[in-house]
Amino acid sequence: RVAVLGSTNMDLVAYVDRAPERGQTVTGREFRTIPGGKGANQAVAAARAGGDVLMIGAVGDDEYGVRMRESLEHSCVDTDLLHTAEGPSGTAHIVVDAQGSNAIVVVPGANGTVTSLGPGEIAAIAEADLLLLQLELPLSAVIEGARAGHAQGVRTLLTPSPVRKLPAELLDHVDLLIPNEHEAAELSGYEEPHAAAEILLSQVPAVLITLGAKGCLYAARGSRTIHFPAPEVIAVDTTGAGDTFVGTLAVALGEGRPVPQAIAWASAAAALCVQKPGASVSMPYRSEIDAA
Ligand code: ADP
Repeated sequence: RVAVLGSTNMDLVAYVDRAPERGQTVTGREFRTIPGGKGANQAVAAARAGGDVLMIGAVGDDEYGVRMRESLEHSCVDTDLLHTAEGPSGTAHIVVDAQGSNAIVVVPGANGTVTSLGPGEIAAIAEADLLLLQLELPLSAVIEGARAGHAQGVRTLLTPSPVRKLPAELLDHVDLLIPNEHEAAELSGYEEPHAAAEILLSQVPAVLITLGAKGCLYAARGSRTIHFPAPEVIAVDTTGAGDTFVGTLAVALGEGRPVPQAIAWASAAAALCVQKPGASVSMPYRSEIDAA
């Protein structure tokens, strides 16, 4: 069982030819509302990969909250511990230009109400095999979740996004840190991934740095650092690639697969995700991952 303690955001996406300058108004080509948030995306990826997944967090008491809950349930994610908080759901206001570059404002909304965990959440984390954490919920809840998991021997994976300085009281409870290249550089002070991994290994037992089309780098204390190439594919939209990777990896590790095998499987899933537009809607199902 995989527990995800994380965010739900409705992505409000405007597609434009050119993003507006300060004070300017432009006319867009298209608008879409897409259920997202790093926590929910990782939960959907894990569930589609065949995991038994529980989502812990909060949506608002608005239409977006209803839709995000439905979207998770549609992918068979257990939402019993996804609370409905008074007020608006989390939203991500995204402008995507013709080159595919984006500018994003995230308003936490209901996610910001998850400042601490109740006994039900603590018990659910303790019963899980793996715990997935990101940084889109208040840090106090993330630390509490990590501590609860670690105390019970639950394997804890942290995606440090959006990146910020991480306190020892969080890192002490993390088994595997999964930053992308930029986050790894920001956290370690080193641009070069091998150097970044070495620094981060002094804080956590294992690090997996994702490198986009270049694959990923896995480093664990006491063993040789390994680079895994990514499958060569034509990418049309890399949104959600990292979340697909982490969600799928968690399922493979939970099934007891060795790390190299789990990484190969997660890389196949992420490569499938980038070949289709959208984040959660482009996440592959188990049969598609196996076929790839
Ligand atoms: P994030 O989406 O969090 O920024 P990355 O861009 O590093 O993370 O991508 C995460 C993983 O997704 C990579 O390690 C890789 O396995 C896969 N991936 C991303 N972009 C591509 C691509 N263009 N081709 C194949 N795989 C990709």
